[in-house]
Amino acid sequence: MSVIDSALAQVKQLHPYTPGKPVEELERELGISNAIKLASNENPLGCSQLVQRAIKRASSHIELYPDANAFYLKRALAERLAVDAGQITIGNGSNDVLDLLARTFLDSSAEAIYSEHAFLVYALVVQACGAKARVAPALPEDAEQAYGHDLSAMLALISENTRVIFIANPNNPTGTWLKRTELKDFIDAVPGHIAVIVDEAYFEYVDENDYPDALQWLGEFPNLIVTRTFSKIYGLAGLRVGYAISSAEVNDLLNRLRQPFNANTLALAAAIASLADQEFVKASLGNNQKGLRQLADYFDSKNISYIPSVANFLSVKFGRQSEDIYANLLQQGIIVRPLGNYNLPEYLRITIGTEQQLASLMEKLDGLL
Ligand SMILES: *Cc1c(COP(=O)(O)O)cnc(C)c1O
Repeated sequence: MSVIDSALAQVKQLHPYTPGKPVEELERELGISNAIKLASNENPLGCSQLVQRAIKRASSHIELYPDANAFYLKRALAERLAVDAGQITIGNGSNDVLDLLARTFLDSSAEAIYSEHAFLVYALVVQACGAKARVAPALPEDAEQAYGHDLSAMLALISENTRVIFIANPNNPTGTWLKRTELKDFIDAVPGHIAVIVDEAYFEYVDENDYPDALQWLGEFPNLIVTRTFSKIYGLAGLRVGYAISSAEVNDLLNRLRQPFNANTLALAAAIASLADQEFVKASLGNNQKGLRQLADYFDSKNISYIPSVANFLSVKFGRQSEDIYANLLQQGIIVRPLGNYNLPEYLRITIGTEQQLASLMEKLDGLL
């Protein structure tokens, strides 16, 4: 017997999350200094200038523990989102919040439902709790929302053991989204004792009339939990701040489990400052819309299909060439994301970069296609 034999089976069976290749790693390997990372849906414009200043100011007191209650961040968020501060749970990224939610509701007797091709973290946190994952088949490739969530298929998987349902709106890596009525009807149909987690990591990027703000339904559905993040449009992925908005009762449970100092001093200061710069958010949105169009036009002109996306990335069908294209782009200093572990091996996910980064990508693709 070794100590490894004592480890939990559910932990030994985990397949660790594969992140996008870090820019420094590729630069080290190739001996270059100008690699372009379009692999993790980060903001190509960086973050607000206000953030840089706030971090500098906050860094003079890092000998003190952070505010475990995140008072000022919650107050700023509460004001912006028109909810009570007591409904907000701050996480070390929204991944942390997803993990807290899983641990709050799931054990080995429970089931969780999510969609095929959904964000991989759902599978990880469910398995870490030893719970059973029920994976709903996604919509077909020729659906309007190709490979998107099939809400009827998800409903059909509800059993007496279901405790949690994960929905990403929009979903990563498909970029597909759910409309207001269909999502609300779905939540309405789910029994009230099941936690419905709506992951809105890309909320600020979506510009569709029918796209819902799930926060509006919190009063009506006490089992609804919405998660958002500062990692995407606010450009703070490296600092790790995300949050859940829920009923005050669920918030209270999450906070019993939450590590008291899970969001650090610099991250809290940065998040507060970033909320104050909505001009930066607007500029990021503008860059994204232009970039999405630029890329879509490019692949249209090459007769290469992609999954229409409302987020800050595009998953493109390179077919059997996809592995080669990934490797060739890497050799030329551009990192995109292979989707084999999302069961979409013919696709590569490309984050919307700056106009210049995308021009460089297209130039390299011209040589490969
Ligand atoms: C990027 C992403 C997140 C955010 O993760 P953080 O931990 O907040 O950086 C959450 N959900 C989805 C679907 C994502 O793609």
